[in-house]
Amino acid sequence: MKQIVAAVTAENISADEIGSVPVPESYRAAVVLAAESDMFEGMATADKDPAKALHVQQVATPEVGPDEVLVAVMASSVNYNTVWTALFEPLPTFGFLQRYARTVPGAGKHDQPFHVVGSDLSGVVLRIGAAVRSVKPGDRVVAHCLNVELTDPDGHDDSMLDPEQRIWGFETNYGGLGELALVKANQLMPKPGHLTWEEAAASGLVHSTAYRQLVSRNGATMKQGDVVLIWGAAGGLGSYATQLVLNGGGIPVCVVSSPRKAELVRAMGGELVIDRKAEGFRFWPEENVQDPREWKRFGTLVRDLTGGTDPDIVFEHPGRETFGASVYVARRGGTIVTCASTSGYEHVYDNRHLWMRLKRIVGTHFANYREAWEANRLITRGMIHPTLSTVYPLDRIGQAVQEVHTNQHNGKVGVLCLAQGTDQGVEDHETRERHLAKITRFRS
Ligand code: NAP
Repeated sequence: MKQIVAAVTAENISADEIGSVPVPESYRAAVVLAAESDMFEGMATADKDPAKALHVQQVATPEVGPDEVLVAVMASSVNYNTVWTALFEPLPTFGFLQRYARTVPGAGKHDQPFHVVGSDLSGVVLRIGAAVRSVKPGDRVVAHCLNVELTDPDGHDDSMLDPEQRIWGFETNYGGLGELALVKANQLMPKPGHLTWEEAAASGLVHSTAYRQLVSRNGATMKQGDVVLIWGAAGGLGSYATQLVLNGGGIPVCVVSSPRKAELVRAMGGELVIDRKAEGFRFWPEENVQDPREWKRFGTLVRDLTGGTDPDIVFEHPGRETFGASVYVARRGGTIVTCASTSGYEHVYDNRHLWMRLKRIVGTHFANYREAWEANRLITRGMIHPTLSTVYPLDRIGQAVQEVHTNQHNGKVGVLCLAQGTDQGVEDHETRERHLAKITRFRS
């Protein structure tokens, strides 16, 4: 691995030289183990500690298939899907790996007693499969997490609709939280030159998701002037949603849960902020009973902030806890666009508010290659910035994931894999200098 690090950080090294550096038979990676899938059985979600399930260990380097690429991972980031994997909720992810192994030729290697997690990376291409033409050894890349086969007609309009669509590092093995990672060539995009390795690895999953959710024609197709209510506006998805709304001429109403988070969204330019904790909203005063008066109190606060306008779009992901309120506060004809259910996937809302006021609920999930590419272009051009707050070494992945599980973090939590310290990997110093204050505004 030392030889790989020396090669990928060397200046003026050729593709052939990087392509001939020996690849080790095994590498260190963050894994969960099939044998431990029932370790939290009977425990409440809040009491489960993902650090107990995540291990950093050697795993065998997988074979590189014809359309695949082996990447030397410099940095990665924590996504909430790794929280789910490490809690074995709602299901252990080994079932996904077994199914994948059965469906596609060459995918048998994904079915292992370990699951290498992680759905983001920045790094350097080490080896390419026989059919790969789009990248070469030595290319500096970031990866998006759409793993797709495209052998079925359904995926050819929008690859997220392919029946063999999976999230890399969640529904496939050999994810980004390791020294090496296996991706399909069509997951790779150029690394933004003005960012460090850990900054470059922060945005992929959440930014592309928020882009499709808000901007794309596959999501809410936000337009200039739209009022967008953003739950968790200083979290992973929300910190990018806030920037996308501002960047697209919309008006974000940012919901957060602490003064520090309020400060962060204001630093991004979000002027209308609700601290849900300070306001003490209790949409569910009892476990199975919602209080519509609380929805109304929330809606009144939103109107007070916007000068009387209800949200054209509600950016949903907390799920059960907030969904009733989200359907209520959206404007007549408005859109509730959802990609998740962090607090519970059985949503309860009053359908009269939906049909009588002609609202729409739109389901959305990650992003197709084009959407991920466009999201990455916004980062490269310095129009959207990473929201990296803290950075952990790979050895402390358990703590990093627990920080996200317990909602202690802001924006994104980064992880160093092969990068030998933070603040490395920048090539475009001029662009960086121009945007430095924005790039670093979430740093603790
Ligand atoms: P995150 O970094 O933890 O941010 C989520 C934010 O939501 C938190 O900062 C928190 O903000 C807010 N929140 C959490 N629980 C809440 C509750 N009960 N009520 C109101 N607000 C709450 O996570 P993320 O990366 O943004 O991901 C959020 C969810 O989306 C996860 O479930 C994840 O699995 C899912 N996701 C899905 C996709 C997809 O493609 N389908 C992609 C990315 C993420 P405050 O405490 O400040 O309010």
